[in-house]
Amino acid sequence: ELARIGVTGLAVMGRNLARNLARHGHPVAVHNRSYGRTKELVEEFGHEGTFLPAETAEQFVASLERPRRLVIMVKAGGPTDAVIDEFAPLLEPGDMIVDGGNAHFADTRRREQALRERGLHFVGTGISGGEEGALHGPSIMPGGSAESYEALGPLLEDISAKVDGTPCCTHVGPDGAGHFVKMVHNGIEYADMQLIAEAYDLLRRGAGRQPAEIADIFRGWNEGRLGSYLIEITSEVLAHTDAATGKPFVDVVLDQAEQKGTGRWTVQIALDLGVPVSGIAEAVFARSLSGDADLRSAARGLPGPVPTGASDVLVDDVEQALYASKIVAYAQGFNQIQAGSAEYNWNIDAGAMATIWRGGCIIRAKFLDRIKAAYDGDPGLPSLLVDDHFQEAVRGAQDAWRRVVATATTMGIPVPGFSSALAYYDGLRAERLPAALVQGQRDFFGAHTYRRVDREGSFHVLWGGDRGEVTA
Ligand code: NDP
Repeated sequence: ELARIGVTGLAVMGRNLARNLARHGHPVAVHNRSYGRTKELVEEFGHEGTFLPAETAEQFVASLERPRRLVIMVKAGGPTDAVIDEFAPLLEPGDMIVDGGNAHFADTRRREQALRERGLHFVGTGISGGEEGALHGPSIMPGGSAESYEALGPLLEDISAKVDGTPCCTHVGPDGAGHFVKMVHNGIEYADMQLIAEAYDLLRRGAGRQPAEIADIFRGWNEGRLGSYLIEITSEVLAHTDAATGKPFVDVVLDQAEQKGTGRWTVQIALDLGVPVSGIAEAVFARSLSGDADLRSAARGLPGPVPTGASDVLVDDVEQALYASKIVAYAQGFNQIQAGSAEYNWNIDAGAMATIWRGGCIIRAKFLDRIKAAYDGDPGLPSLLVDDHFQEAVRGAQDAWRRVVATATTMGIPVPGFSSALAYYDGLRAERLPAALVQGQRDFFGAHTYRRVDREGSFHVLWGGDRGEVTA
């Protein structure tokens, strides 16, 4: 018997993905650089389905039906190249290499091109949901050729999460599109987590609530429009008590957030594309600030507002501010997907991305249905913020949103996510922006020229001379 698909790289993600495939009745070949993991998998979980363990790369490839489907789940970067170099010479035209790791989409584009020249399909695939998702149904974002999706799609859709019977997996677009979308997903995840963390801080320090109470508040919010995996786990984390000290768990955890890099990539690429993803950027910077222990200790005594002891922040206001800020964060992320799609000719269906993020992944949220509906209504929607539904939601929330940001500022509680989202919103809707002055400054010191509101063309003022205007 031959395997329908193979997985190489059997750490947590690869092992669980292989088990997921086997549990769905797909015979799966399994391989790992060191054979120990392969043996362990088959010994522990062999009863779950048909596993074909391979000790060598040659055995692994020989155990796959054609065209071969080979999934790589190894550490992203150099290891992925090493594994591709090992397997590509053993494959034949038409075979498919699926990279399910967290690759940078530029690497995926490079690899796809190199393998395409050898007649092989390279399918850079975003997989979200962590180890639980990999086992029980992740959100899957495959890139690569449409032809490869015909051979892979049914398998991937079968093992993906389902929401209302719809798989959380679709063909995202050519070459690096899948990894790009996964990257932006992670960026949005950063922003969403930061906003939730700010909401917690506001409820704790601004409204004077204890972690257990805040856990209840989040549990309540989870029943409403904010309903999502991240809100749900937030209430669980806040309700948890540290066994050793009896204190709220959140109070014994060192307040220095770490990061593995996909948030940073999202912001770096957004800078290149010229897309303002301020919510994601603030989230990445907030983690960096939290992690700079030396700088924070040097700054600890800096003056802030005199504490009044008042609990001025209203719980309902925080819910509204959180929802409005979250709409902004997602609007920015989706704009980045559209900008990437335009830059690389990926033709990505934004609404379909909302659909496959409804289950399996970390940002799964009720309101993704609304995002899907917004793009169904207008596939070329310039921003989620101008969609009727979201416009109404922000209209209803904006007074509370402004109160929260103002009160937080007065109290000295940092809300970079909430406040940058509000600034972005006010910037977008402004009749006139001070960018006109910036253009004037640029023209003054660098003769960079400007355009006028009343005439076509580029102009320059002779700042060093008679200050007359000339056509540039
Ligand atoms: P790790 O990222 O920890 O990678 C460990 C695996 O990579 C092992 O199988 C290891 O083999 C293999 N490996 C490392 N270097 C090489 C090499 N030079 N040649 C061959 N194999 C090598 O595993 P995870 O399961 O955590 O993640 C796998 C991929 O999935 C990563 O790209 C990760 O970013 C991505 N991912 C992870 C998620 C998560 O929640 N953990 C979520 C979504 C994606 P050996 O056993 O021989 O050391």
